[in-house]
Amino acid sequence: NPHAVPSDAPASAALLDRARAVTPGGVNSPVRAFRSVGGTPRFMTSARGPHLTDVDGNEYVDLVGSWGPMILGHAHPAVLDAVHTAAARGTSFGTPSENEVLLAEEIVARVDPVERVRLVSSGTEATMSAIRLARGFTGRSLVVKFAGHYHGHVDSLLVAAGSGVATLALPDSAGVPADMASETLVLPYNDVAALEAVFAERGDQVACVITEAAAGNMGAVPPAPGFTEALRRVTAEHGALLVSDEVMTGFRCSRAGWWGFEGVDAAPDLMTFGKVMGGGFPAAAFGGRADVMALLAPDGPVYQAGTLSGNPVATAAGLATLQHCDDALYGRLDEVSRTLATAADDALTAARVPHRVQHVSSMFSVFFRDGEVTDYDAARDQDTAAFGRFFHAMLDAGVYLPPSAFECWFVSGAHDDAALDRVVSALPAAARAAAG
Ligand code: PMP
Repeated sequence: NPHAVPSDAPASAALLDRARAVTPGGVNSPVRAFRSVGGTPRFMTSARGPHLTDVDGNEYVDLVGSWGPMILGHAHPAVLDAVHTAAARGTSFGTPSENEVLLAEEIVARVDPVERVRLVSSGTEATMSAIRLARGFTGRSLVVKFAGHYHGHVDSLLVAAGSGVATLALPDSAGVPADMASETLVLPYNDVAALEAVFAERGDQVACVITEAAAGNMGAVPPAPGFTEALRRVTAEHGALLVSDEVMTGFRCSRAGWWGFEGVDAAPDLMTFGKVMGGGFPAAAFGGRADVMALLAPDGPVYQAGTLSGNPVATAAGLATLQHCDDALYGRLDEVSRTLATAADDALTAARVPHRVQHVSSMFSVFFRDGEVTDYDAARDQDTAAFGRFFHAMLDAGVYLPPSAFECWFVSGAHDDAALDRVVSALPAAARAAAG
């Protein structure tokens, strides 16, 4: 294989040693540490198009895409141009600026339920602020979330969370006061009966239901037909708000995110965004009904703020990215994800490895188990050791997968046929490695 990568990575290993001496675990976000798959996390030095290059000089086809933002591929020329232009004019003003208006207009134009939007710097801030706003609007305190959904590291949402919490098999986070956790009710995903039961009992105390529009943080688990409509109906009946977290799906699944598929009958009151809308920079947002958003400071009593909110460089990168998120791109992402998902399915079938491939639009994931996955219990019931062997065989063949069995594979418009060929040709041997 001309793309084979040595399985040791001495320069990465040396950096990891230095990093550990100054940073917990040597990483600034836990899943990057390769804890569940073992081995040396690769320190990257550059990225272009569909590729990442590490400090040992190895090149990988990237199927993580910075966990979602890099929908156009790395170092896209239009995004770099916009960033250079913006940075040359100054990197932060601490005042309103035109880019913020343009980005907000773009979001409002794409996503009908969003009448007003506020920009923040991370998905965590977006969900944290949306929940505060829902509590302020309703005067209630309970929040309902679903097991396996990840909404960032907000105290009250770090209960039965997906993503790194699932990868590291953590029950919940230490440091979240029991009083705060008890304000969060966790339900199984895609279970309308459980939802109705909780609302029948405590519906008048629920400020909001927060849901990943389609779950991507326990692997790809779309809402069952009718589930989002049931969320809308039940919350409305009890005067609670529906918060749809589209930090991962927003502007990735379609021009209007996952909402673009489900449409009017399921319109949420509030939505959260991040990842793609920042074009690889820290920009995120929450928005929704004008009457709810009117409660935010400075117009209303719900406080929310940020030194770098609406940063001129980040908003320039986000705008340039969204301007290239057109129907042609979404068509290509569908094609690329179908090609890769089918090839993974075929290779694992040929090697007789129990598996299940699921899609959330162009996001997809491979569960190392048989049978449909509709909730967190099923997602957790997989052969993570088999995934670890598969992951390392792919890495050695120059393919960078998410280092966790609980994460989606992210494709980009820059994944050309050469990059796809590299992935497809690596799959059969990786599937045999998974078989053990
Ligand atoms: N919500 C969802 C659905 C996410 O996928 C994530 C991040 N993976 C977040 C919120 C948190 O975003 P951030 O990491 O930018 O804080």
